[in-house]
Amino acid sequence: MLLDLICLRCGTPAPWTGSVYLCERCGTGSGPEDAGVLDARYDYDAARAELLDGRTVKSRRTDVFRWLPLLPPVDASPSLPVGGTPLVPAPRIAAALGVGRVLLKDETRNPTRALKDRATAVALGRARLLGATELHCASAGNAAISLAGFCAAAGLRSHAFVPAAASETRLHWLRRFGATIHRSSGDYDQAYVEAEEARVEHGWYSRNCAYNPFLVEGKKTVGLEIAEQLEWESPDMIVCAVGDGCTLGAVGKAFREVLELGLVERLPQLVGAQADAIQPIVEELRRRNGESPAADGSLATETSAASIAVRHPHNVQRLLAEVECSGGTMLAVSDAETAEAQAQLAREAGVVAEFTSATTLAALRRLAAEEDLRDQTVVLIVTGGRADDA
Ligand SMILES: *Cc1c(COP(=O)(O)O)cnc(C)c1O
Ligand SMILES: [Zn+2]
Repeated sequence: MLLDLICLRCGTPAPWTGSVYLCERCGTGSGPEDAGVLDARYDYDAARAELLDGRTVKSRRTDVFRWLPLLPPVDASPSLPVGGTPLVPAPRIAAALGVGRVLLKDETRNPTRALKDRATAVALGRARLLGATELHCASAGNAAISLAGFCAAAGLRSHAFVPAAASETRLHWLRRFGATIHRSSGDYDQAYVEAEEARVEHGWYSRNCAYNPFLVEGKKTVGLEIAEQLEWESPDMIVCAVGDGCTLGAVGKAFREVLELGLVERLPQLVGAQADAIQPIVEELRRRNGESPAADGSLATETSAASIAVRHPHNVQRLLAEVECSGGTMLAVSDAETAEAQAQLAREAGVVAEFTSATTLAALRRLAAEEDLRDQTVVLIVTGGRADDA
């Protein structure tokens, strides 16, 4: 049961009713990395009683709303079914890397082929409850396509703020789903600013994950599912591609919650993967650890990992708190490493991963070359699978 919201920047609590976004005291702070992002807090005793019968989840739903006691109040009436995705063993990849067990959380099975649908499902559930009919988001592509698809199914209007570099394929999906496209003259960061200005002006409901505190709650369900699929035995490590930081931050929250509920005994190490051309959160972690910057001018300046090409990430505080609490790390991989990993995911696991999502295997290949992972169970989150040229 949802209690309230708390600012991750200043610690001030806030009520959750209506459409609430950033902390009123902190606002956007000094910029994206510094905004007063709110975090949902629950009554875990009440949630335990509602959710569980012993160690069994009571709900017979298999979608994200299986976890209603750990979500904000939503209209959960049937819509496009999201979540309940398989956790697929990849024994050939595990053997090739010398890792004990590699499991792929296959988020490409969601309606618009991406994990983003989990956040969209909660946004739609909230919008319906509030009677909102127009929603918007800023997006490198997947979030907007997800929003547009769900709005198409529900008969609502969607506004997509995309960077100038959005691929023709992604724009085409937005058109097919009937979104109103607002194409920025700049990058994702600029599209984000333009999207928020327009929201304030028009009063749309926001599907921006670092602004609307409830969307991380939707993304969190991927972590809850992994924990349940492993029969409440935490994996040793979970690897995920990181842009704004919402997704992996949400996975961290999920595992702290199942720990709090007494279902698991430890937290998995969270490993965030970025592209070496755009690695602001890797750099921030290095700064915090007193290490020198990795970028030495020899790195690429552009990346094909479009879904994580975020130079000014919006949920850094959340993400790094979760990564540090899990004993995990962040690392940046080159596009050449990611291309090889994407090919390996296809060749040795039969998985259609979009380029961005293959950064996870690229990161694991690095870690496996450096450390002995023979006893480890590693989950790679395959966050998306819409081919960018199809
Ligand atoms: C959005 C996205 C990510 C990163 O999620 P963040 O919450 O921005 O860190 C990773 N992979 C894919 C395919 C995405 O669409
Ligand atoms: Zn605050």
